Amino acid sequence: MRTGADYLASLRDGRVVLVDGEQVDVATHPAFAPVARTVAELFDIAADPASGMQYTAPETGETANRAFGIPRSQEELRLRREAIETWARHTHGWVGRSPDHVGTFLASFAAHPEVFAGGDRDFSANVAAFHRRLLAENLYVSYAIIPPQVSRATTASGWDGEYLQVGVVRETEEGIVVRGSQMLATGAAIADEIFVSCIKPLGPDDQDFAVGFVVPTAAPGLKLYCRRPYAPAATSAFDYPLTSRYDEPDALVVFDDVLIPWERVFVNRDTTGVRRQFFDTGAHALGNWQAQIRFATKLKFIAGVARRVTQVNGVDKIPSVQEKLGELGALVSGVESAVLAAEYTAAPDDAGQWLPGKRALYGSMGLQSEIYPRVLAILRDLVGGGVLQLPSSVRDLTSPVTAPDIEHYVQSPGVASEERVKLFKLAWDIVGSEFAGRHQQYEMFYAGAPFVVKGVYSYRNYGYEQVLEDVEQFLGSYKIETV
Ligand SMILES: Cc1cc2nc3c(=O)[nH]c(=O)nc-3n(C[C@H](O)[C@H](O)[C@H](O)COP(=O)(O)OP(=O)(O)OC[C@H]3O[C@@H](n4cnc5c(N)ncnc54)[C@H](O)[C@@H]3O)c2cc1C
Repeated sequence: MRTGADYLASLRDGRVVLVDGEQVDVATHPAFAPVARTVAELFDIAADPASGMQYTAPETGETANRAFGIPRSQEELRLRREAIETWARHTHGWVGRSPDHVGTFLASFAAHPEVFAGGDRDFSANVAAFHRRLLAENLYVSYAIIPPQVSRATTASGWDGEYLQVGVVRETEEGIVVRGSQMLATGAAIADEIFVSCIKPLGPDDQDFAVGFVVPTAAPGLKLYCRRPYAPAATSAFDYPLTSRYDEPDALVVFDDVLIPWERVFVNRDTTGVRRQFFDTGAHALGNWQAQIRFATKLKFIAGVARRVTQVNGVDKIPSVQEKLGELGALVSGVESAVLAAEYTAAPDDAGQWLPGKRALYGSMGLQSEIYPRVLAILRDLVGGGVLQLPSSVRDLTSPVTAPDIEHYVQSPGVASEERVKLFKLAWDIVGSEFAGRHQQYEMFYAGAPFVVKGVYSYRNYGYEQVLEDVEQFLGSYKIETV
């Protein structure tokens, strides 16, 4: 199975990743090399049979990564969850778009090839073939499935300016030629491939923008405009323990007339087809369950930091502090429980693919944009000014000029200076650094804006018909004359 070293070697392929007005080499640039190393560690874990992440994929007959497989029983769904947790625990949930996220979507696509057969061409074989490649080559695929923020008052066909959103310019014998942009591909700069499509509803005039395809990150004409990276400003792992390892790049993907060969096309000019690929294959549910598993892992880690901070500051026996920790634990256990409840209520779809229960899954997602800021607010409350009563950098702890004072004044009972500083710098990287701010935006938006997650996904998947029926029955059980 592909190792971390294989993955790192494959990054030197001429991909056009742009930062500060220049193309950079992601294998060595300080914005990308640290998180690429983290991804390499994930591939090494998967390549180790002792990790329990391997299985024999029926699609290839070969050993593959379970996180890319189609769960065909409840037991396989459980083992899949454990594989996802293994990766999530390695990053403590701080890498949102690890390869298992989009890999899960692609597995569900392959479980339902018929969904891709209905347009003017039959793309079902492409979806199955790409999934086999994913399994065989242990690929890292990211995605860009949201139109760029130009105006949300209309869809792309209503915008001034041609091909602001990626769309088909022309078809040739070899494939489709696409032009335009799409937001906001997390991880794309260090991924092997990008899945490009549009999950937002499109109108009848948006046909050109209704596409779905996979493209190598290094494809000629493809450019990645990355947001300001935070890792280069991280002075050391000691000062920024999360930023320095887990700063995933987010990028606007720009297509300068990129040829997408037919065998890489999943949907072409089909406004219904782009929606169906996400919702009629089970991909949206299975993919977002992966995200909830990762989210639960991250919340547990933050709860651990909060608990340790209260111990170090000697406030953990105070009832009002315990109340705050209790609320934090309740919030975290709600997400953990939803992950397990979704597994417990899982059921097979008509292709035999086991999907997590949607009530629990989408219920948890609906509260994510409130839970995460609340969790951060509790940690922020508990750390007080301790996250700023800190030496300017690790060098204050090693320099003979500053170390004696830092060791004397920045300590706690039974907790040496180094340990205290380490803990509070970690807390700052969770609540206050630029990395922390980006993570809050990520958890609030990665699965869609809150009005979509609540108003569409949670609302439609709660199953209101059942509770309505109960109320109707109750209301029917008494009349005016029985008052
Ligand atoms: C850190 C980060 C990483 C991301 N990574 C990825 C990725 O890897 N791949 C990917 O494809 N996408 C990614 N995204 C994009 C993400 O999917 C979008 O941010 C999300 O879908 C919301 O779209 P938007 O940002 O355009 O917000 P908008 O849809 O523009 O909404 C912004 C706000 O405007 C208001 N609003 C807009 N329209 C309406 C309406 N009709 N009704 C009511 N209120 C409205 C709401 O207040 C809403 O919260 C990422 C986003 C972030 C922040």
